[in-house]
Amino acid sequence: MPARILDGTALAAEIRATIKQQVEHLKAACGITPGLATVLVGDDPASHAYVRSKRKACTEVGMESFAHELPATATQEEVVALVTRLNADPRVHGVLVQLPLPHGLDAEGVLGAVSLDKDVDGFHPLNIGRLCMKGREPLFVPCTPLGVIVLLEKAGAPLRGARAVVIGRSNIVGLPVAMLLLHRDCTVTICHSRTENLPAVCRSADILVAAVGRAEMVRGDWVKPGAFVIDVGINRVADATRQTGYRLVGDVAFDEVKEVAAALTPVPGGVGPMTIAMLLHNTLEAAKRYASRGGSAP
Ligand code: NDP
Repeated sequence: MPARILDGTALAAEIRATIKQQVEHLKAACGITPGLATVLVGDDPASHAYVRSKRKACTEVGMESFAHELPATATQEEVVALVTRLNADPRVHGVLVQLPLPHGLDAEGVLGAVSLDKDVDGFHPLNIGRLCMKGREPLFVPCTPLGVIVLLEKAGAPLRGARAVVIGRSNIVGLPVAMLLLHRDCTVTICHSRTENLPAVCRSADILVAAVGRAEMVRGDWVKPGAFVIDVGINRVADATRQTGYRLVGDVAFDEVKEVAAALTPVPGGVGPMTIAMLLHNTLEAAKRYASRGGSAP
C-alpha cells in the first residue's frame, strides 16, 4: 500500500488559524500584539525570500513584523548593536537573525547576543545547550526541528522505543531533530558524510529524517517497509519544462519511497510550511510570556 502523504501545508494552515485566534485573544485581553523583528544582513536572494515569507506569515495571523536590513559590509559590532536595540524594544517579542550571515561575521556571537526571552529561532547557544541536556528545557526549540516532531506526532508515529535515524548533523536541523527524538524516547542514530554503509543504517529506521541537501539521495531500498520518513531537504534540480528552469525536490526519492514507507512528507509542502508555523508559535509563546511577566503594551 502506498505511503500516507503527510500534508505539511494543511497542518500548518490549521496551526496558523489557531495562532491567529490566540493573537486576537492576547490583543483583546492585554493590548499586546506579538511582534517579530527580522535581521537580514547582506543581499543573498534566498535569505530575502525566506524573510519576506516569514513577515507575510506574521501579518496574516495579526502579528507585527519589523524588518531590519544591514549591508553585507556591516561589522560584527553593528549587527550586535542592532540585536541589542531589538532586545530592549517592548514592541518586539521575537528576534530572528536570518542565517547564513555573510562571511566574516561570527554567527555564534550574534546569536548569543539575542535575548534568551526573544530567541524564537531557538539558536542561542544556551537554548541549544539545554536542548542537548537531559532534564533541561530550552525556552525555545528551533523551528524546523520542532516542525518535524509535530508532523510525526500528528501522524501518530509511535516514537517511544522506536529506532530513529537522522541523516545530517547541522546545528540548525540534524542535531536538534536528533535531540528532540531522543527526548521522546527514540533510540537515535545520527548519520553524516563520513557514515559508513548509510543505506543499511537507514534500513534499520522506524523513523527516518533526511536533512542533507542532496537531491533524492534516499532511495526506496534504503527504507524499512512501514517506516515514517520525513524529508527536510530542499534542492533545486534543472527542469526545462518549468518557467523557472528548475523544480524543487527533497533528499528522498519520493516516487520510490512512497511505495515502501508507511508515511512520507512531500517536497514542497511537507516540512517547509511547518517551519514558518513553528516560528509563529514561538513568537506567540514569547509574547504570552512577556504578558505573564506583567509586560504591558508599549
Ligand atoms: P548542512 O549543509 O548544514 O548539513 C548537511 C548535513 O548532511 C551535514 O551534517 C553533512 O555531513 C550531511 N551530509 C552531506 N552529504 C552527505 C552524504 N553524502 N551522506 C550523509 N550525510 C551527508 O545543511 P542543513 O542542515 O542546513 O540543511 C539540510 C537540508 O535541509 C538542506 O537541503 C536545506 O535546504 C534543508 N532545510 C530545509 C528547511 C525547511 O524549512 N524545510 C530549513 C532548513 C534547511 P557532515 O556534517 O559530515 O558535513
